[in-house]
Amino acid sequence: MMTPFETPFFVCPICQRPLARQENSLLCENRHTFDIAKSGQVNLLRAFGQKHGDNADMVKARRNFLESGAYDPMRRAVAALLSTYLADGGILLDSGCGEGYYTEEFAKNQAFSVYGIDISPKAAALCAKKNCCRGVAVASAYELPIADGTVDAITNIFSPFCREEFLRILKTGGIVIDVIPAERHLWELKAAIYDTPYENKIKPIGIEGFVHRETRPVTTSFTLTTHDEIRDLMLMTPYFYRTGKTGHEKLSQLSTLQVTASFYLLVYQKI
Ligand SMILES: [Zn+2]
Repeated sequence: MMTPFETPFFVCPICQRPLARQENSLLCENRHTFDIAKSGQVNLLRAFGQKHGDNADMVKARRNFLESGAYDPMRRAVAALLSTYLADGGILLDSGCGEGYYTEEFAKNQAFSVYGIDISPKAAALCAKKNCCRGVAVASAYELPIADGTVDAITNIFSPFCREEFLRILKTGGIVIDVIPAERHLWELKAAIYDTPYENKIKPIGIEGFVHRETRPVTTSFTLTTHDEIRDLMLMTPYFYRTGKTGHEKLSQLSTLQVTASFYLLVYQKI
């Protein structure tokens, strides 16, 4: 079993000094103390009033859906890119790690030191329970409790690309693997609920401070065979709250749906 936080990695959100583990807490030299929860994560959100990310229903739906293996081809493609770009001994941050579905796969490569952060305490707790990586913190990607220039790679799967923070924590030459939905991601789901489904707009590829190294498309199809499975997928997407009553009614009448998921895996390197 891995002891989380064995090596100092996270820094104190109050004074930015390294946090070292002492029994069931993390402590900085100014004695700011952060307790490690029973499930194994530590809450490093500076302001507890901050938005807490995905709610319990969304976390549960996403876990159910991901554990079905539907996105496994994408997860494996990201892991393969990590093996290409990240040297042995490399430090990886899974930013917006959620319940740890991806984190767990990346941590299988024991040559890497893998950490996770998520703003949702529920998601971070589920990730920490997997005991797959070296430390999980509840934190915002916009205010990472991580020292400057200490990270070799960041995986950012369907999470906000926080340019300034990513540039700050990455070493020169460090990479970000950014996974975004492609134009026709989950097209059949959209077609089932909207009269006129629109393709996703893809942001411009260039990001200041980074060189774009490559884009790898991944497409995978799967069949949802129960209404619950359809609802779980729907709950994971932004459409759930954007869809009106008619859309939800249409969806509730479906008991099977074949869906195509399409992603772009973009690799950026810090200059
Ligand atoms: Zn401190």
